[in-house]
Amino acid sequence: MAYRPATQLVHGGQFRTEFGETTEPLFLTSGFVYDNAEQAEATFKGEIAHYQYSRFGNPTVTMLETRLALLEGAEACRTTATGMAALHASLLCHLKTGDRVVASRALFGSCHWVVSNLLPRYGIQYEFVDGGDLAQWKAALARPTAMVLLETPSNPMLDILDLPAISELSHQAGALVVVDNVFATPLLQKPLQLGADIVIYSCTKHIDGQGRVLGGAVLGTKKYIEDTLVPFIRNTGPAISPFNAWMLLKGLETLALRVNAATLSAESVANFLAGKPGMKRVLYPTRQDHPQHELAMKQMSGGSTMVAIEVEGGKDAAFRFMNAFKLIAISNNLGDSKSLATHPATTTHSKLSAEDRAQLGITDGAIRLSIGLEDVEDLKDDLSAALAAI
Ligand SMILES: *Cc1c(COP(=O)(O)O)cnc(C)c1O
Repeated sequence: MAYRPATQLVHGGQFRTEFGETTEPLFLTSGFVYDNAEQAEATFKGEIAHYQYSRFGNPTVTMLETRLALLEGAEACRTTATGMAALHASLLCHLKTGDRVVASRALFGSCHWVVSNLLPRYGIQYEFVDGGDLAQWKAALARPTAMVLLETPSNPMLDILDLPAISELSHQAGALVVVDNVFATPLLQKPLQLGADIVIYSCTKHIDGQGRVLGGAVLGTKKYIEDTLVPFIRNTGPAISPFNAWMLLKGLETLALRVNAATLSAESVANFLAGKPGMKRVLYPTRQDHPQHELAMKQMSGGSTMVAIEVEGGKDAAFRFMNAFKLIAISNNLGDSKSLATHPATTTHSKLSAEDRAQLGITDGAIRLSIGLEDVEDLKDDLSAALAAI
């Protein structure tokens, strides 16, 4: 089936039961039964394919995994209960004591914690680099390295990292490259085509995109997924609920419509805010004044649904700005149909040291906007009123 992405989003991976239902069936079952003891034996020997238990696999979950793999152009996919379960499993299924991980410093808060707090407990060393500085990657990857982890565009300031160049350096060091592609979504950037080995998602974000369920996904080669990841998740149990998988299948049906609409609005909001009094910086990948604009245009087909801004006047001004919103909601979530605003320095990134925040460009005036599906003129009205409140 060589269907185009929009078609895969609606049909990919679906199979129908004997009842001929239109929609994807929801198999809300923890276990499965066998016709006879011989069939159970053959299943456990791996001689026949038969669902055993929903911690290992479930037909609704399989549909989601097949659809995500088709969309990403990946050989295989496994889904998990949350994005963090996906990230944690994607690393720990492969790493062992004595290994080394190199990561870009600009990571989602919990990913930063996994690398800098959890991995060292198991004797896994880590090194953070400034992801935009290839010389730092080169220096860090001069030693053998097991895995490289990065996010591009990064959370929250939308730094763009050079995926082909970093992947090449990583492979020379013997590392697998894991890309957290949440901000770009599977539609706007294809890390596997740009050199990465593994892509992870928080499906909670744009893939559900309507603020309902949590979920995560890991995509990569058949060998990595089946030989390395599957035994790990099968036996440690971060399985997604079939109900959540079903919600995410329905979310995927409208993913392209939602992401394309919100991306157009985000670009329009970025252009609207840039240069307005009170606005110190507006960061949006497709704007010419984004520091890595050219790189963004090479590896992304759209600027994403996220806009990073910095207001003049620090925390007080940022809080006045956000508190003035009537339409945009204050939330640490993102990728929703409702527009959301976050003050990273006091919420998502408050546990980082002030020095780490400064290195990431997360000033007290920085605000992350996740643009949703409202009429963009209403968003601009809300932002105008908020600017006046500064
Ligand atoms: C939300 C998010 C995660 C974590 O996903 P959960 O589904 O909340 O566990 C990881 N990385 C990025 C970039 C995210 O935005």
